[in-house]
Amino acid sequence: MTLAIDGGTPVRTAPMPTVLDASGRTFGAAEAAAATRAIASGALWRVTGTEVAALETEFADYIGASHAVASTSGTAALHLAVAALDVEPGDEIIVPPITDFGTVIAVLACNAVPVFADVDPVTGCLTADSVRACLSERTRAVIPVHLFGGPAPIDDIVALCRPRGIAVIEDCAQAYLTIPSGGASFAGTRGDIGCFSLQQSKHISAGDGGLTVTDNPDFARRMRLFADKGWPRDTGERTHLHFGLNYRMNEMVGAVARVQLTRLADVVAARRAVARRLVAELGALPGLRLPADTRQHSFWLFPILIDLPVGNGDFGKALAAEGITANAGYLDRPVYLTPALTERRTYGTSGFPLTSPPARREFTYAAGDCPVAEKLIGRTLLVLDCNERFTDQDVTDIVTAVRKVHEHYAR
Ligand SMILES: *Cc1c(COP(=O)(O)O)cnc(C)c1O
Repeated sequence: MTLAIDGGTPVRTAPMPTVLDASGRTFGAAEAAAATRAIASGALWRVTGTEVAALETEFADYIGASHAVASTSGTAALHLAVAALDVEPGDEIIVPPITDFGTVIAVLACNAVPVFADVDPVTGCLTADSVRACLSERTRAVIPVHLFGGPAPIDDIVALCRPRGIAVIEDCAQAYLTIPSGGASFAGTRGDIGCFSLQQSKHISAGDGGLTVTDNPDFARRMRLFADKGWPRDTGERTHLHFGLNYRMNEMVGAVARVQLTRLADVVAARRAVARRLVAELGALPGLRLPADTRQHSFWLFPILIDLPVGNGDFGKALAAEGITANAGYLDRPVYLTPALTERRTYGTSGFPLTSPPARREFTYAAGDCPVAEKLIGRTLLVLDCNERFTDQDVTDIVTAVRKVHEHYAR
């Protein structure tokens, strides 16, 4: 069969459901009623309203943490987590190179240095070994990302870090209800702090928003203060106990997020069902490697590794021509190769905090820093959409298109 990219008939011409609009989202009448309720209350501010406080309690209970602090984005949620550690300028925080820039923004915003550890060639996540190779006497924290909803080996990383007094902040922006190996509890509760996003494309959303969870009451208090200008609302004093920002979530967002939380289990179950079909129907194709486990993973996206004469870019273009959204590499480049880091565009022309002092040495970033990540992005990783609104026919079309493109290129 001629590929659509070579002039053949595409498998599909109708658009697939997408997280970018209602077709692939679960916003309904209950969300509309919740937003209306918040507006009708006249208190759109979390300090005098009730919705955001209720969301925090409900989310902490749901995930299995003692405390949750709401904020305005996943990036803010991560910033709160790093701020909770009160790091010194120039301290180092280990991060993966395949992630949203928000992971790194949180580090730079605390005047800390992002140190990029390479990733596992299959999962794209940090490993205990890759983290160990990057430790220094200035390492204060590690931020493993559960990439695409696939579990990072968080218990191994915690076992490495805890005896050394290094904090583990889980970036769970893509990983609601992911269950890492080594237990039954959710990602976000295995490390010291867990960070979630409510941005448009995440499993549940309120447009933008963030949630940070922890069992540590000192971290929780510091994060609460940091999100509210360092202002201790509980004492009635108008004072500022330390530097902070205004990351307060508003009541409309909180009200919508509360409803979304009630849909989360169904969203993840539906995505796992899609993934199970994809694994069952595509798993045997030689040269394609699919996620091994469909119970721990929460499938924000569905990653495929390609080991064929053709690379991820051409395979992805051919799939797109068949009408199936496919993202080769997920990122255009590892995060450390974006100009913000290669050109050290942080604060004016200072290069701070990547300079020495405050860092123990000058930090620069260049191609070759993390070869495994570079190969994933440039050659092997292909990411397919996974969505709770996919119909059986949508999944059938994905299977048909992948088989068609595979047959062409595997010859
Ligand atoms: C989305 C995302 C973030 C940032 O979340 P925002 O809400 O967009 O600020 C951080 N880390 C990862 C891994 C993400 O996917």
